[in-house]
Amino acid sequence: MDVIVIGGGIVGVATAYQLRAAGHRVCVVERHATVAQGATYGHGGTVLPTPLDVWFGPTFMANRQGAKNGVISKAGFNGPARQFVKQLAALQEPETFSRQYGRLRPLIEASRDAMADMEARFGLEFEQANGLLYLVRSAQEWEQTHTALELLRQYEVPHHVLTPAECAAFEHSVPTDPPFAGGVLFDHERTANCPLFAKLIKQTLDTQGGVQFMLGCEVSAIRLDGERPAVELAARPGKTSRSREVDVISADAIVVAAGYGSLPLVERLGLRLPLHPLRLHTLVAPIAHEECAPHVAIVDAVKRIAVTRMNHRLRIAGGAVLQSTGQIDKPLGEALTKEALALLGQATHDWLPGAARISAALPWEGVKLLSPDGLPVIGNALHPRLFVNVGHGPAGWGLACGAGKLVTDLIAGAAPDLPVDTLAALRPDRF
Ligand SMILES: Cc1cc2nc3c(=O)[nH]c(=O)nc-3n(C[C@H](O)[C@H](O)[C@H](O)COP(=O)(O)OP(=O)(O)OC[C@H]3O[C@@H](n4cnc5c(N)ncnc54)[C@H](O)[C@@H]3O)c2cc1C
Repeated sequence: MDVIVIGGGIVGVATAYQLRAAGHRVCVVERHATVAQGATYGHGGTVLPTPLDVWFGPTFMANRQGAKNGVISKAGFNGPARQFVKQLAALQEPETFSRQYGRLRPLIEASRDAMADMEARFGLEFEQANGLLYLVRSAQEWEQTHTALELLRQYEVPHHVLTPAECAAFEHSVPTDPPFAGGVLFDHERTANCPLFAKLIKQTLDTQGGVQFMLGCEVSAIRLDGERPAVELAARPGKTSRSREVDVISADAIVVAAGYGSLPLVERLGLRLPLHPLRLHTLVAPIAHEECAPHVAIVDAVKRIAVTRMNHRLRIAGGAVLQSTGQIDKPLGEALTKEALALLGQATHDWLPGAARISAALPWEGVKLLSPDGLPVIGNALHPRLFVNVGHGPAGWGLACGAGKLVTDLIAGAAPDLPVDTLAALRPDRF
């Protein structure tokens, strides 16, 4: 089959890879000059999500004060944004959290397998490193992590629950003063460089053939009215077209994997997905003092701030800003940007004093989509030949390889190797 994938982020690239591996001809349409320039670019480094860092559950936004929970809520929320926060609050209930995580779990495992297969096949090197240490500050927050710890035991995820002294003994850069509640170490989970991984997969696909990357091309609309589904391409800046004809390419199937850019495309077709854009920040800071730098990635488990070492720099990601949807395309403003970046700087200072030269850090911001039930949206929508693969939230990389395989199975009409309740929980028409 000929398949068009809209979007060249990690989700689009991983989908293209799986489609090609299943023997299809693929065209990836990406508006930037290369792949991995959207949310994928700012990725924090965590490969697969654990129950401690999915962006829902008892610890996520449990504290109303933004500085404490790591999410800055911009005042003046409109109705839908308030509604979205309410829905997230419902996921703090331990039973609901466990149920949703249980549905996500098979996709995480499928992604682990798919990624391991890709790595083994091509011997890819993308700054992989083992070890993640999640740290929790207060006793109350530690209490709130109990459901996640229960899930770790239930799903037999290898981990170690550590006292503050054990955390400091394992990772010398973490101070025990001021006191904190404890930590959870995953010595088998990994961090790595997601944009690099996406580019290596593209390179592999370029070499193998069968996947065309149309870079610098923006899809302006999807057409479902012809014999075959098709996409309209926006006129390129600087390209003067004498005719009024629009560039259109058709295929046997279309996959919308355009991250935040997916929403307007499917909305124009009448599909309103209740996904909410969340602005996130990264700082890439040089190491200040080598003796203070961590040898594993450190995650502030409540504020969802990850500090990952990549060669001679630290990548610090988090600093979420929740705004109304209408605000997301406008610049954030200096004060809020400062506040978000300050969260990142402070978390680094608190957990790894002296490790990073924050004053010399390069800031970046991007938008990722969160869904109100915590799960991504993957499946067929509106038309037998239209598929969506979006809303992976904070776990886009982790889920991308498994999600790409799932979409490939659905396109081929093959039975996906995932439980029925997981498939139902991911479907676009579930809302
Ligand atoms: C700061 C930050 C830290 C993060 N940390 C982690 C982490 O540690 N671990 C993890 O797993 N995830 C993390 N995430 C989330 C993860 O990065 C995202 O879930 C993932 O990158 C989403 O990938 P995507 O391909 O769906 O979206 P994107 O990377 O945004 O890609 C979408 C692509 O579609 C293109 N596009 C959009 N509209 C159109 C159009 N109309 N025509 C053509 N092209 C179009 C865009 O240019 C873009 O390249 C983080 C996100 C951020 C912002």
